[in-house]
Amino acid sequence: NAIIELRKVGKWYNSYHALRDVSLKIGKGEKVVVCGPSGSGKSTMIRCINRLEAHQTGHIIVDGTELTDDVKSVETIRRKVGMVFQNFNLFPHLTVLQNLTLAPIWVRGMAKSEIEEIAMMYLRRVRIPDQAQKFPGQLSGGQQQRVAIARALCMKPEIMLFDEPTSALDPEMVKEVLDVMTELAGEGMTMVCVTHEMGFARQVADSVVFMAEGSIIESGTPAEFFENP
Ligand code: ADP
Ligand code: ADP
Repeated sequence: NAIIELRKVGKWYNSYHALRDVSLKIGKGEKVVVCGPSGSGKSTMIRCINRLEAHQTGHIIVDGTELTDDVKSVETIRRKVGMVFQNFNLFPHLTVLQNLTLAPIWVRGMAKSEIEEIAMMYLRRVRIPDQAQKFPGQLSGGQQQRVAIARALCMKPEIMLFDEPTSALDPEMVKEVLDVMTELAGEGMTMVCVTHEMGFARQVADSVVFMAEGSIIESGTPAEFFENP
């Protein structure tokens, strides 16, 4: 019944051992926060879940499909997984609305009018419908990150991966992004978030995973994590 399962996953960058036998099960609707020092493999682990990086040993199974070199397995899994990056990764030469509709039109073959309506609905949900015709460079970092979240949601993912979504933001913009993520969590989305925001972890996470040197060295509920002496 796990929607994401990692079984003894290993990953090397040349001779550098970035993931060491990482095993993890995530249930449908579960919110997992991944924390740990810089360079511990957090980003590598979540990037392996949608094949932005390829693992070399072990198994990754997402919603019943094992990730293999077969492009079909990658396509199947990418359909289910949305991702939000530290640096937004928006297309600078497209408007906010075009950023949201590009993949649904060209990858999913959706009609422009239909996806534009859906995109506007998500822009209202992340509270920036008035920015639809602007370009990313005209928006604050917090607004850009909310565009990135809305863009991922337009693909109707079952799972959302967040890689340090607030780390590139000015402090006053962190809350507006965490509020949107908290709302999404409340709606039952399965979420895996690499973040240093321990308030968010305490409030939203079902489980917290602590990584060091490419391994998961501890995991538990936020209560177990934060209230241990
Ligand atoms: P974290 O997200 O915990 O900061 P990363 O997963 O980004 O850690 O990186 C884990 C380790 O792997 C780091 O030592 C990093 O330098 C190394 N690494 C990450 N990506 C690459 C890459 N493309 N090539 C070589 N080494 C990499
Ligand atoms: P993040 O902040 O998401 O952990 P990093 O800043 O560590 O990402 O890395 C940014 C990019 O550089 C990633 O694509 C990562 O794979 C790559 N990278 C990280 N460390 C190394 C490295 N030692 N050698 C080569 N590429 C690396």
